[in-house]
Amino acid sequence: MKKMMLINPHKPGRHGEESITVIVQMPLNLAYIKALTPGDWEFDVIDENIELAIDDNGELTFAPVDLVCITSVTYQSPRAYKIATACKRKGMTVIMGGIHASVMPEEASKYVDTVFIGEAEEVWPRVIKDFEAGKLKKVYDGGLPPLNLMKRVFPDREFLRKKYNYKFSSIVTTKGCPNYCDFCSVPTFQGRKFRERPYEDVLEELAATDYKGLMLAEDNFYGHGKRSNERARNLFKGMVERNLQKDWLGFTALNISQDKETLDYMAKSGCFGMLMGIESTNETVLEKMNKQVNLKLGTESYYDCIQKIHDAGLVTWGSVVFGADGDGKDSFKRMTDFILENNIDILTFGINCPFPKTQLYKRLDSEKRIFRKNYPDDWEYYDTAHVVHRLVDMTLEDFIEGMQYVYDHIYAGDNLRKRFRNSIKTTNNPRNSMFAFRVGSDWQQVFDQVLENLRLLYDSGDYYKDYYKSNSVSVSKKPLVESITT
Ligand code: SF4
Repeated sequence: MKKMMLINPHKPGRHGEESITVIVQMPLNLAYIKALTPGDWEFDVIDENIELAIDDNGELTFAPVDLVCITSVTYQSPRAYKIATACKRKGMTVIMGGIHASVMPEEASKYVDTVFIGEAEEVWPRVIKDFEAGKLKKVYDGGLPPLNLMKRVFPDREFLRKKYNYKFSSIVTTKGCPNYCDFCSVPTFQGRKFRERPYEDVLEELAATDYKGLMLAEDNFYGHGKRSNERARNLFKGMVERNLQKDWLGFTALNISQDKETLDYMAKSGCFGMLMGIESTNETVLEKMNKQVNLKLGTESYYDCIQKIHDAGLVTWGSVVFGADGDGKDSFKRMTDFILENNIDILTFGINCPFPKTQLYKRLDSEKRIFRKNYPDDWEYYDTAHVVHRLVDMTLEDFIEGMQYVYDHIYAGDNLRKRFRNSIKTTNNPRNSMFAFRVGSDWQQVFDQVLENLRLLYDSGDYYKDYYKSNSVSVSKKPLVESITT
């Protein structure tokens, strides 16, 4: 029987959002690959968040197999290439897929036998047949198939659980986004058509898995119009009617706050609350980002929206961007005040990051502001936990001081406990408030790592090196305030 190894790469020592223990998830795409593979195969999996595929000398930790399939997002790609190189040295065939290989296929093809672009659902069985016939091609493009084609094809979660006992999994209910925010890779990778999975099929999958903890995998489960909203409502109503309560959460936009019926079904079906992309409180910045969905709503309406979500007993998880053009030194205090005044239960963030092939990358690159360009090694910095481009509206020192301000006022000392008590008051739901508190506690460690990344960048001098050369100015680095350097 042929053997396939599925690998989720992860650089040892890295702490990012994958370290949030309450939602540590299995790599669902690998569970799909297992489910979609036809014929008689033996499988194994290595999730490098848990165990390594190569040791410190770059040698493999597993015995040779017939086929190695590696997934990767951008920050994982240098590690993915190292693993692929080690596999190739041992004569194994390597296929790479995932977001990074899909947007940078020419780069990935230097390290692997085959690059898989796009989504696997329709084309993967053909890849396996070609491999078995010794006719594997260099590139396959799975495209972006409609989700109703995937009827009753469920990822094999049990296979992954057996090896690593993941507490949380995820489930796909939609893909794609018609918006085009400049920093976001979703329109590039998943397309601008909002693809919806029939809710009856999602209900079947929910019934078929005994996973209680689930995250909806997409960026907007509620959707962009009346018909999509109704579909989401039917999904949560179906969960209640079929007694499919889960401990779940998902990402959507604040317009859901106007739909009390859906919020009530969400609460009854076990939802903790929702993540939403606030990004910035500054409308000029939102305009620059092309974050139309927030501009339409208007930041002044957030308080009312959040109150309605709290009234349903759900917590709100705001995701924001720091370091966007237009955000100056004052943006950190403004955002901190905004989070506290609006009773947002969880704050997580990303540092503005020009992911490859996004509008943001094109613009910053044309402005010669990206200083981490030693690809593919430098892709490891493209994780929203590092600064990779030069800021225009503040210095690096301002940025670090600002980030420290947010940390001190939202995370440090007694702040998390204060916010926990506030969540109980506003939601009247201790279970969901405890969930928010635990995410906050985990994120505090991610935040520690981000501050460390920033200090290392400052100390390295890389941020200023070419800048001063190219701008013919001689300015020494400003000393950081003591609280940051110590
Ligand atoms: S940030 Fe959200 S709304 Fe904007 S393009 Fe990405 S998925 Fe769509």
